[in-house]
Amino acid sequence: MASSILSDCSSARLLPLRRALLPPRAPRLRPCPALAHPRRLLVAARPQLLPRPRRMDSPPPPPPRPPIQVRLLATVSADAPAKVIDGKLVAKQVREEIAVEVTRMKDAIGIVPGLAVILVGSRKDSQTYVRNKKKACEAVGIKSYEVNLPEDSSEEEVIKHIASFNSDPSVHGILVQLPLPRHMNDENILNAVSIEKDVDGFHPLNIGRLAMQGRDPFFVPCTPKGCMELLHRFGVEIKGKRAVVIGRSNIVGMPAALLLQKANATVSIVHSQTKNPEEITRQADIVIAAVGVANLVRGNWIKPGAAIIDVGINPVDDPESPRGYRLVGDVCYEEASKVAGAITPVPGGVGPMTIAMLLSNTLESAKRTHKFK
Ligand code: NAP
Repeated sequence: MASSILSDCSSARLLPLRRALLPPRAPRLRPCPALAHPRRLLVAARPQLLPRPRRMDSPPPPPPRPPIQVRLLATVSADAPAKVIDGKLVAKQVREEIAVEVTRMKDAIGIVPGLAVILVGSRKDSQTYVRNKKKACEAVGIKSYEVNLPEDSSEEEVIKHIASFNSDPSVHGILVQLPLPRHMNDENILNAVSIEKDVDGFHPLNIGRLAMQGRDPFFVPCTPKGCMELLHRFGVEIKGKRAVVIGRSNIVGMPAALLLQKANATVSIVHSQTKNPEEITRQADIVIAAVGVANLVRGNWIKPGAAIIDVGINPVDDPESPRGYRLVGDVCYEEASKVAGAITPVPGGVGPMTIAMLLSNTLESAKRTHKFK
């Protein structure tokens, strides 16, 4: 219950009020500076994304990686404070590169990549996400198609729109904004999206191909793809390094671990049942945290010089903020940045990369469809 729970970064878990009010016992860790004042944790209303079992047509060619135009080297040193892996800056560069490619494609073959977004209902957060995606598409020259359906629409109506986008050659990516209204079965609806247009990349066949040697998926899920892009662009060496992914969800943790393994890291996965997560995490040269627990990863979990990618987005109460809350990651930034070699901030780290990777997947899809190199 929010009123009887305080957050304390020394454990970064929800604590009963009685324990939180007891005087700290030595050698108890100091609270994470990011949460120096006890704040209630807010429950994040996140869309529940489900994997999508769907049919598979023909195997795709390997997805081309976007050209790395700028390489931002992060110095990995145990003495200096961590370099900030600026996701906002990298996302801007990625969007600029996509815009160049979109123009090149349009000039060469007259094709403009298209992304269709289907929104059912009138959730404010979903409307904001859809608006942002639309704006991001427009900014790079990708054509966006939007369908807004009322909350009480039937599954059949939604599937009818998906079917029409599936057969529309000007649409190269289809995204159904989640969560869907309760009366709908997500799986039925998501299954209707053609795998060649599944720019979210959650299809089990995509994930399976990601896991297999010598195979490549049609699409890599956007958030893990963004994490890898940040590591690549900041010159973080992956091959032969030890990596720990905290969290094993279908949409972030698990594909992130597969991608790191594909890039020849030795990967461990930490989850809610893992014993001694600190000890395991401390061995990692690269940490990707995708948990959804504010400030779970403390400074003493981190190997000096490690690269830290913090996927978590957790709202915590902040009476000083105009909105009454602010966003923090899964990693206690102030502590970790004193130990790590490089670290993503929250906000401004992985978040902006996710939408940039959605645009990248849409461009990739259009190029693949039209065999444009
Ligand atoms: P999720 O589906 O809830 O998965 C959370 C994972 O964390 C689970 O695998 C869970 O383990 C593990 N976990 C939970 N408590 C743990 C603990 N105390 N110690 C170790 N592992 C623990 O969450 P998600 O969808 O992957 O999202 C994770 C975070 O990333 C959220 O904050 C979300 O908002 C954020 N996110 C950000 C973006 C972005 O664009 N930046 C995109 C997607 C998600 P079990 O499997 O054992 O339950």
